[in-house]
Amino acid sequence: MTSTAQPETAETNGAATDSIAVDNPATGELITTVPLLDAQALAELAARAREAQPQWEAIGPSGRARIMRRAQKWMLDNAERVLDTVVSETGKTYEDAQVADFGYTVSALGFWAKEGPKYLVDEHVPSWNNPGTTGKKLILRYAPVGLVGVIGPWNYPITNAFGDCIPALMAGNTVILKPSEVTPLSSLLMADMLRECGIPEDVFTVATGDGSTGAALIGEVDCVMFTGSTKTGKAVMRAAADALVPCYLELGGKDPMIVCSDANLERAANAAAFYSMNNAGQVCISVERCYVEAAVYDEFVEKVTDNVRALRQGAPTDVGTVDVGAVIFPPQLDIVDEHVRDAVDKGAKVLTGGHPATGPGRFYEPTVLVDVDHSMKIMREETFGPTLPIMKVRDADEAVRLANDSPYGLGASVFSKDSERGEQIARRLDVGAANVNDAMINYTVLELPMGGAKTSGIGSRHGAGGIRKYCSQQAIVVTARMAMKKELFMYPYKSRTSRMLAGAFKLMYGRGKRD
Ligand code: NAD
Repeated sequence: MTSTAQPETAETNGAATDSIAVDNPATGELITTVPLLDAQALAELAARAREAQPQWEAIGPSGRARIMRRAQKWMLDNAERVLDTVVSETGKTYEDAQVADFGYTVSALGFWAKEGPKYLVDEHVPSWNNPGTTGKKLILRYAPVGLVGVIGPWNYPITNAFGDCIPALMAGNTVILKPSEVTPLSSLLMADMLRECGIPEDVFTVATGDGSTGAALIGEVDCVMFTGSTKTGKAVMRAAADALVPCYLELGGKDPMIVCSDANLERAANAAAFYSMNNAGQVCISVERCYVEAAVYDEFVEKVTDNVRALRQGAPTDVGTVDVGAVIFPPQLDIVDEHVRDAVDKGAKVLTGGHPATGPGRFYEPTVLVDVDHSMKIMREETFGPTLPIMKVRDADEAVRLANDSPYGLGASVFSKDSERGEQIARRLDVGAANVNDAMINYTVLELPMGGAKTSGIGSRHGAGGIRKYCSQQAIVVTARMAMKKELFMYPYKSRTSRMLAGAFKLMYGRGKRD
């Protein structure tokens, strides 16, 4: 494996007015530059994508699935190239790229190719409520919305960007993907992949650029799928309201982990260390805070701290060389350090880590904090770094109260050997997804919805809803050829028919017990 990589092409199809430098956060080296597309370029891309859509829809589900399956094979055949590209522009470890970016995407390509068409077959709906529809054929059809705009973040530049394009494409839409300005190369590689796998011209394009490019995209599309921060999500929703197009938002999180006194402490401690530190903590559903029942607090803290202390950090040179990679860019490093400093100033104790690590790349030491409380930013705001604040609680009730004391509601985890109890606690958490005796794993369950409660998002990805959201629902009501000359309620109005209808309504809806 090479430490820096570049897709064969860093070009996009639209005209650009400016360019953006892409560097390797683990080494600080410049990799390449990509065009910054402006509104005019976006309009041209969108016009071409709209022209390409009917042909793409006409290919049908099996034709589209064939291209996704070819892409799945392409990923497997080009695994090294994919990993090198992700690792170079994010500074993450090969393993973080392999499990999440690569593993998710090969799985998702196959999943949507197989299940996508099933979720979109016409539904033939029975109607028992209105005798007037007796004998009619009632169809619910899922039609592609047309052109979908996907806007992605940098933390998983394939999964959280291209990953959402797969169901949108499978539904028969054309897609323009606006990747993060920090990590555009993985998306460009995905465009190369689909081209090599035979996707027709202009069906899938990548619009490189910054926030202004994302904002311009919203005005061009029929539906917006956004993944990123809650702050930007609000701006996206306002722009989508102006354009009057549906938008789906996958936003920030502050996921709590609850460790009950009857937990398998070894497993809980391993999970806490891994799910707070993997991808250098830059995961929307990483464990951002931990609540531990008093009886096992000391033992748990000791185990977690030993685990975290042993982690190797640095620029990955090959598989298995480091455990924790880089922090993406200087502003992110500032947020992590600010949260740690704020906690320490208010009385928290750092058990390991606690500082930015030495360069040349951008790193923050894997950090464990105790004596934390909810007056501290590190317990209330999204840190998105390799930090784990651990708080002692009296019991699970207090843990649930504190877990829910958050503007966010993305994910959560509960550890208890009594899985029934764990499930009952999970049901009390105001989050979109909760894992018992595990964390984050729900993201890989493509049959279940993944989305946030509260300010963590609107809508969800995965499952039936994860592809139907890229469709407009069309209702079709077909009256048989052998129908009567006219319906009873049609002109001319007559008192006899009106009285008959009044009697019929009473007969149909007037029976049955009420309170
Ligand atoms: P961000 O909000 O800064 O940027 C996300 C994307 O939005 C980028 O492509 C950016 O260029 C674009 N953008 C910026 N301003 C825009 C505007 N006005 N209109 C349209 N697009 C605009 O987020 P980020 O720093 O790239 O990603 C980190 C955030 O993403 C964290 O908060 C994390 O929790 C969240 N995230 C959420 C999920 C999830 O599934 N819920 C997954 C991954 C990351």
